[in-house]
Amino acid sequence: MSPLEELIRAEIRATGPMTVARYMEMCLAHPEHGYYATRDPLGVAGDFTTAPEISQMFGEMIGVWVASVAPADSFRLIELGPGRGTLMADVLRVLEQAEMRPEVWLVETSPALRAEQAIRVPNAHWADRLEQVPDGPAVILANEFLDALPVHQYLRAADGWRERLVGLRDGRLTWGLSEPLPGRDAAPEGAWTEKSPQADAALEQLAARLGASPGAALIVDYGYTALDRPNGPTLQAAKDHAYADALEGPGEADLTWLVNFDRAATALGGQVTTQGAFLAAMGIGARAQALASASPEEAGAVADALERLTAPEQMGTLFKVLGAVSPGLPAPPGFGD
Ligand code: SAH
Repeated sequence: MSPLEELIRAEIRATGPMTVARYMEMCLAHPEHGYYATRDPLGVAGDFTTAPEISQMFGEMIGVWVASVAPADSFRLIELGPGRGTLMADVLRVLEQAEMRPEVWLVETSPALRAEQAIRVPNAHWADRLEQVPDGPAVILANEFLDALPVHQYLRAADGWRERLVGLRDGRLTWGLSEPLPGRDAAPEGAWTEKSPQADAALEQLAARLGASPGAALIVDYGYTALDRPNGPTLQAAKDHAYADALEGPGEADLTWLVNFDRAATALGGQVTTQGAFLAAMGIGARAQALASASPEEAGAVADALERLTAPEQMGTLFKVLGAVSPGLPAPPGFGD
């Protein structure tokens, strides 16, 4: 059994079943044994692939967006959870063409990933938390960041809301439910709801920054709105590019949940669209054509990447984009009229 699983079991034996948020926090963020602390999980040899790792076109379209919302001649470009730094490197290449050279800040807790980022983004500043980044005009980006923060899950049982817990039974980690929580409402039995105080806090901080200094924020993640809200708990484990059991081998699989973009848009302000619609509006079709005609031997790979990023049955609809700007600034491009 891994040292992390020993720690989780010891905590459950000492204080009882733990919330899903506590379990996630230990699995992903434990400073010594957590998933993100111990590895670079991205890419072919890793557990999952993100949009910037699929194709440079993703970051380039975000670069076009950043260039069009840049709030001042001099601004900070901040990214939350930058992974390998691929997205930032692609954005900076586009900005360079527009002769924009923002001061780059990467908010990252993982030493393994900071090392990867330093390779691709040589002149960056690093911070553990957004609060550590100085105030001032800024554009803030986050791709698959919120879904890595701990989430609480609640089931509406016959006798009220109960929180989903991780406990021990017959020597195995197992799902359970808390006693009914105080407070009643009209939710139907069997309904699930999820809440991430850390994600909410991150969005509140972004909103406060946009209120204090001119700027813009773009949040991209796996998630839903009222139009495609799933009916169940959304926690998912990924290992070796396949779904895994979230209770099996804690700290060895990525754990994510689906972001509620209606909730995020309320917290941050701004508009939500799908990744497919956003990338199309920013010109990914023309960019794919240009790349394919510049290197005909790459045309097939470019077409595949375009399909993966934008097709409804791939990432085009499941991934959502939330864009927000400071009060008084013109609406950002990419979100329809
Ligand atoms: N945006 C990247 C990586 C997504 S994976 C991409 O699209 O490829 C999630 C990222 O968030 C990783 O870089 C991880 O180390 C980072 N991360 C997770 N929790 C964090 C936290 N609490 N604070 C800062 N970074 C965090």
